[in-house]
Parts: sequence; C-alpha cells; structure tokens
Amino acid sequence: MDKLKWLRQMVDQNPNDSQGYFWLGKELADHHRWLEAVQTYSTGLSCCSDEALRNDIIHELTKASLQIQHTTMDASPSIIDNNDMAESAIVGDCIVTVTDMEQDNLDVIPDMQLENLKIKNLVPNFKVIDGDASKKNIKKINEKVTFADVAGLDDLKKTINLRIISPFYNKGLFAKFRKKVGGGVLLYGPPGCGKTYIAKATAGECKANFYPVHITDILDPYIGVSEQNLKAIFDKARFQKPSILFFDEVDTIGMSRSQTTSHVRGIIDTFLTEMEGVDTNNDEVLVMAATNTPWDVDSALKRPGRFDRLIFVAPPDEKARVQIFNLKLKGRFVENIDTTLLASKTQFFSGADIANVVEIATENVLEEILLSGNERPINTDDLVMALQELQPSTLDWLRTAKNYVKYANQSGLYNDVEKYLRTYARYI
Ligand code: ADP
Repeated sequence: MDKLKWLRQMVDQNPNDSQGYFWLGKELADHHRWLEAVQTYSTGLSCCSDEALRNDIIHELTKASLQIQHTTMDASPSIIDNNDMAESAIVGDCIVTVTDMEQDNLDVIPDMQLENLKIKNLVPNFKVIDGDASKKNIKKINEKVTFADVAGLDDLKKTINLRIISPFYNKGLFAKFRKKVGGGVLLYGPPGCGKTYIAKATAGECKANFYPVHITDILDPYIGVSEQNLKAIFDKARFQKPSILFFDEVDTIGMSRSQTTSHVRGIIDTFLTEMEGVDTNNDEVLVMAATNTPWDVDSALKRPGRFDRLIFVAPPDEKARVQIFNLKLKGRFVENIDTTLLASKTQFFSGADIANVVEIATENVLEEILLSGNERPINTDDLVMALQELQPSTLDWLRTAKNYVKYANQSGLYNDVEKYLRTYARYI
C-alpha cells in the first residue's frame, strides 16, 4: 500500500488524531497537492489540543498556503471574481474560505484535471480572527508626579525612600548582598488619602515606568483569559524594567480565597506565581498595590516574597492638610487664604475630600460671578462655607478598622493602624 493511502486510512480510523492529519498533510505537501494538504492540516488543527503540535501544524499550513498563492499568481485568475458567498472552515484562529464559485467549478471538472485546477486557479481566502486576549492592554502613565506633589506622609516617604527607591539607585550594593531590587508593597488605608498618588510619585522618584492596573484590565468571562491577561501584564513590566506595576483595589483581585469562586482563585494563583517570578526574573519590577480593605486580601498574598510590606497610608495630619490646601489652590484666582485655619477645621478629611472642598468653593464663586457680573477671587470664607457642606470620609473606614484591629491583629499586621487609632481614640 502506498504511504498516502495508508495515512488516509489511519485518519479515517482515528478521526480525532491530529498527529495523523499532520503526517497526511506533510505527505500531500510532498506530492505538491497543496490544497488537500491545507484542508488536511485544517482538520488536524480543529481537533488538536497539544500546543507544540498545534504550532507545527500552523507552520506547515502557512507553508502550504503560501505555495498555493505562489502557484496562483502564475496562473490566470479567471475563476474567482466573487468572494461574497464564501463557505468557511474554521481552523483554530483562522478561517479558510472556499467561494461558491470555486466549489461549482470543481464539481463539473473531471477528476484528472481537478488536481491541477485546484492548484492553479484557487485563491484561498485566509481570514485571521483576533482572539480577545491581547486587546486588554495596560497603558504606561507618562504624567510625572514626584514626592514634592504629595503633601505630608513624611514617614511613608522615608520608608519608601529607604526600602524602594534607594535599592533602585544602589543596584551594585544590593547585588553584593544578594538582595533583589523589586518586590511587593501593599498600601492600605481609607479611600482618598493618597495611596495611588504616592505609588505614582514613587515611580516618578525611581524614574521607573508606571503601569496602573485595574481589575477591568484583567477580568474576562472566558475561562483562562483573565490569567493570560494578568501574565501578559507582568511580562510587559518585566520587558520594560525598571517598572512599577500598580494594582488598584487589589482586594477585588486577591480577595480571600475562601470567599471566591474557582474562576477568581485561578487569578490569585496566577498572581502568586507571577509575583514570585518562579520561571522569570522579577528583578527591578516592583509590584505596588492598594486596598481600602486589607483584611479582604487573601493571606497568601501577604506572605514573604509577595506583598510582604504592608504600609498604612493614614489620613493627612494638620500640617499635611495645610500643604494639600496650598497644592490644590495653586494657580487659582485666590486672596489671602488662611490655610492653617482651614486645616484646623478639616480633621479626618482625606486629600480627596480637601480637593473636593476647593472644587466646591470654586464652583460657588464662579456661580456668584456669573450671576452678579462682579469678578472676585476665592477667599477663606468661601472655603469654610464649602467644607461645612462636607463630612470627613475617613471616619467610617477608621471605625471599621477599629474592629479588625481589635479582633484580627494577632500577627501584628495592622500595628500602624492600631497606633493611629490609639492617638485619636476619643474622636473615633
Ligand atoms: P486613594 O488611592 O488612597 O484612594 P488617591 O491617591 O487616588 O487616593 O487620592 C485621590 C486624590 O486626592 C489625588 O488625586 C490627589 O489629588 C488627592 N490627594 C490625596 N492625598 C494627597 C496628598 N497626600 N497630597 C496631595 N494630594 C493628595
């Protein structure tokens, strides 16, 4: 029996054996029967689950289809002029299309000439359908923020300087002590107190690339795609190092595994693997994350080698509030603002709350000017009036944290919060 016949028999008997289709396709290609080879590879691909074999088949499929294109370019394109009515075979990520016109012509041609015609006159219509995986891409933030833009948080800046920024500038020293530059830092605290802002500023200080990542950049309804997205994000950061990956609201990604579905558990496992960089080198890739609810973050993520540094970002103190008022009022049409008075009236206001006070005061003054026609600058009274409309947003968080500190701080993870709560106990 000739080899071709034998291989055909083999695939007939084992219609799901992609390896068989691969060998049959190769044999057909050896006999220059390109179109049949393409069809055989296509069938092989549709039942192939082995990644390496899949790549081999795609490689051979591409070669065979190129041969068809070459042959066709030499021949007259007389048969095909209508691509509208296409019949398609799905081949993995590609669709191989044979038009109705081609099919009709093939049906009326005697067998002997058919082979020749197929080769000479058919233009296979390959269409590549994009998968969704690569579309979700994180963007590098080019806006430069430095520590000078962040008011207060002096202790935090000192810690970040010592543990994060100086390693970036003293790589030689760290290499000598076999200490990796990079790692994971988890910032936690009430919303609006500058976690994202300080992460951005850290990247600015290190002159590293800053990639903010949100859960929506990762999550995908198709099984396995979220994990691929997450891996792609880490790969990008490793490729463009030094870089800082910043995961906002990391509790939504790394939610305690006991509370999650298997789909989310897969994401956490990928997160752990990527952070540890088992198969890869995470040197000079710093992973920063922020959460308002650190107690919801899976404890596996808080172990050494992962987010092993938990840093509390507290509401700004009085001195910091003065600075935030100054920063937010900078460049606006203002008159002798008493920022010390404003700071004394805004205990437990977050940085975002203060930004909001300034916005509301500005809107009120603009409205007044538009109604009266008399232009005037923003003054302290405008800001005092605006802040009376608002409540400090951090208090709710601090009260919730109080319970966690009381009942779930055995390992001392929340000692900083405990200290803060003790200092302000009579107000909370
Ligand atoms: P978080 O990530 O903690 O929820 P953000 O970092 O997003 O809060 O802060 C929200 C906004 O509040 C920032 O964009 C910034 O304008 C302002 N802000 C917060 N904290 C500070 C700060 N310490 N210095 C200057 N601006 C701040």
